[in-house]
Amino acid sequence: MLNVPSQSFPAPSSQQRVVAGGRSKVPLKQGRSLMDWIRLTKSGKDLTGLKGRLIEVTEEELKKHDKKDDCWICIRGFVYNVSPYMEYHPGGEDELMRAAGSDGTDLFDQVHRWVNYESMLKECLVGRMAVKPAAPKGMLPKSQATDTLAREGPSSPSYDWFQTDSLVTIVVYTKQKDITLDSVIVDHQDDSFRAETIIKDYSYLINIELSHAVQGDFSVRIVENVGKIEIVLKKKENTSWKCLGHPLENHNSLVPKKDAGLFYRQCQLISKEDVTHDTRLFCFMLPPSTHLQVPIGQHVYLKLTITDTEIVKPYTPVSDSLLSEFKEPALPNNKYIYFLIKIYPAGLFTPELDHLQIGDFVFVSNPEGNFKTSQFQELEDLFLLAAGTGFTPMVKLLNYALTNIPSLRKVKLMFFNKTEDDIIWRSHLEELTFKDKRFDVEFVLSAPISEWNGKQGHVSPALLSEFLKRSSDKSKVLICICGPTPFTEQGIKFLHELNFSKDEIHSFTA
Ligand code: FAD
Ligand code: NAD
Repeated sequence: MLNVPSQSFPAPSSQQRVVAGGRSKVPLKQGRSLMDWIRLTKSGKDLTGLKGRLIEVTEEELKKHDKKDDCWICIRGFVYNVSPYMEYHPGGEDELMRAAGSDGTDLFDQVHRWVNYESMLKECLVGRMAVKPAAPKGMLPKSQATDTLAREGPSSPSYDWFQTDSLVTIVVYTKQKDITLDSVIVDHQDDSFRAETIIKDYSYLINIELSHAVQGDFSVRIVENVGKIEIVLKKKENTSWKCLGHPLENHNSLVPKKDAGLFYRQCQLISKEDVTHDTRLFCFMLPPSTHLQVPIGQHVYLKLTITDTEIVKPYTPVSDSLLSEFKEPALPNNKYIYFLIKIYPAGLFTPELDHLQIGDFVFVSNPEGNFKTSQFQELEDLFLLAAGTGFTPMVKLLNYALTNIPSLRKVKLMFFNKTEDDIIWRSHLEELTFKDKRFDVEFVLSAPISEWNGKQGHVSPALLSEFLKRSSDKSKVLICICGPTPFTEQGIKFLHELNFSKDEIHSFTA
């Protein structure tokens, strides 16, 4: 929804014609980019037609506004007049009209749950629905949530706490065995304490205003075999606490992960290093009062305020170096988060990111994504197909597979780029082929200079069939693919044509 710049864009053949999730973008008229929209919302123009008033909207009233030039849509109980936004919507007017005069929450969540529509559409806000909408899925109180989820979800987690003179320990009983340190995300800011535990595809939240002050740092321990998480806080004063604190929003609730809101914390830019002519390695420091480890293959959202509007884009954390798992990392891994980010001069978000000074802040969300390391179980051959910055999820995958999967015989990366100068961490990749005999890399260029004597062209059945040779007839294979959406879609199609099954393919998308 947010990724469209100015002019008649994207060009008909552009990869940008397809947005994440495979939905097509439409060409926008000149002067209808996201930046133009932001300018319009700041112009003081009355975009709702209500002269700044907010009203209560009944269902009957909402239904009446179902035309292009008079189009209201309800998202999570709030009603927006989206008519002025029609021409700026990258997905096109027809896509918006699918929700005209109705509740578009589900449709919105299917396409871009992470887009910050409250900020984007704040000048279009008409008001609230008069009839209280059905409780948003993320808001169920625990008793209700667990009742509904008991049939398909994990057995209900619970928590408890105990104290000594100097410590308060909060214990989460997940009742699951596969809990690891990256299953729990803890933030405490001032007196508010938040711990989100990911249990299978569900999110269990503890959200409390603590009754007494605690110090900034804390520790998180996992007792794996019983699925117990212990978060140990240090009291500021050695007094006895009568209660842990007061519940905050959604405290003690269990909801499907997809329905849990994204939580952001501010991270500080520590360093920025050129990796290619347009791609940089950014290092951000997490706040000391945050415990967050992004699981392998998952991404986070970065949020910046650009011209008074919050803009959010997904990025996939990487290691500080491709070889870092094989040596001591320069900085402790759990306090820093690294990104390889390509700067698009005409893009909206990346130039702003590039302008950040060391010491500046960016908001970083909780992780998302559906890759699971269990896909590596008993794996023998791992094939990685990456195009451009689609290389980013492969970094941690590669490190993890080579260090943790004893059954692995071969890891091959086919890395598609336009030119040699675009290849990210080429020397690291080549070094890795020497360090680990199981690893091999092949570079394919779509716009090479005439002297290039390696592989050329775009992803194709011929390239793939030659590359994807199993180490034995029945070897267990996983093929991971990531890049521009047309690349990924074509790649998957060719892989099916080459008789690889759905379970043998993992594609990274938003
Ligand atoms: P946009 O404003 O979205 O512009 C995108 C493109 O449009 C650019 O090519 C830009 O040059 C072009 N453009 C702009 N204006 C015009 C114009 N007038 N005419 C023609 N073309 C124009 N990216 C990374 O670098 N690293 C990652 O780790 C990473 N992880 C991702 C993970 C996921 C799950 C997904 C879905 C994407 C990821 N991306 C990653 C891509 C990232 O989210 C952004 O899409 C990317 O950074 C571009 O953002 P932008 O706002 O700067 O560019
Ligand atoms: P790029 O434009 O430099 O292209 C790199 C290579 O991709 C090209 O050399 C070509 O081989 C292939 N390619 C590009 N367009 C193609 C098309 N239309 N059809 C077939 N092949 C094509 O790539 P970039 O600017 O680095 O973009 C990387 C893309 O990867 C972005 O779209 C980004 O959103 C996506 N990405 C996704 C994730 C994820 O997890 N979903 C993570 C990182 C990056």
